[in-house]
Amino acid sequence: MQRRGKVGECKLCRQQAKLHCSHIIPEFCYKSIYRSKHQLTEVRVSPQGLNRRISQKGYKEPMLCSSCEQKMNIWETAFHDFWYSTIVPSGPVTQKYPVIDGFDYKWMKLFHLSVIWRLHSAEGFGRIDLGSYAEQIRDMLLRENAGLANNLPVFGCLLLDDTNKIMDMLITEPGMGRWDNSYFYSVSYAGCEWLFLMVNEPTKKQKEVIDAFGIQVNGSMRLMTAHYKRSRSWDKLVREIRSAIKGRSI
Ligand SMILES: [Zn+2]
Repeated sequence: MQRRGKVGECKLCRQQAKLHCSHIIPEFCYKSIYRSKHQLTEVRVSPQGLNRRISQKGYKEPMLCSSCEQKMNIWETAFHDFWYSTIVPSGPVTQKYPVIDGFDYKWMKLFHLSVIWRLHSAEGFGRIDLGSYAEQIRDMLLRENAGLANNLPVFGCLLLDDTNKIMDMLITEPGMGRWDNSYFYSVSYAGCEWLFLMVNEPTKKQKEVIDAFGIQVNGSMRLMTAHYKRSRSWDKLVREIRSAIKGRSI
């Protein structure tokens, strides 16, 4: 019989409770990998400053009480239903910076912040340290408050295969970098590399990028695109974005 329901402190609400074994990266992100006939062996790509790895097994550990687990499930389900019904199956991506819309700002932002927070809180799976931002994110998740677009902005870069279709069989360990005096973290799941900038009062440069690519409160965001094997550092990406903004090509 499986050992379930270990009692401990829930990492989100900090109450003593029976803890659920929570996936750090949501289980649905692994489904296409499980289903694939061409299972990926471990591949390492090492862009400057980032360390990535493909993992085939869903990692989980006891972390949340049942009420916090349910709360996160609501955001996960909302993201899954939107992303896998409209974005992933949409066929070849022809635009360099496609705009997506029609989602709810709150669950989109809280879902992604919950992933990066779980990566911080997990004992295993390529742990990262969010420093003082971990407590801010915990508070946002607990209060279900996604904040403004400038608060801990999240960006996405779709990962495309040779036919420009979204490649959703890549899950990476998180990487970390620094841009314009702020830390950012990067982790790939659900066919996209998600970038988390740890800032609440962005600089002018950061604000430009947030306005162009951050999750917007009206339920839209502009995504970047890249071949999944191509390494790109944040600096290169930002230069590209800034020249695109200046040239009004986006
Ligand atoms: Zn809890």
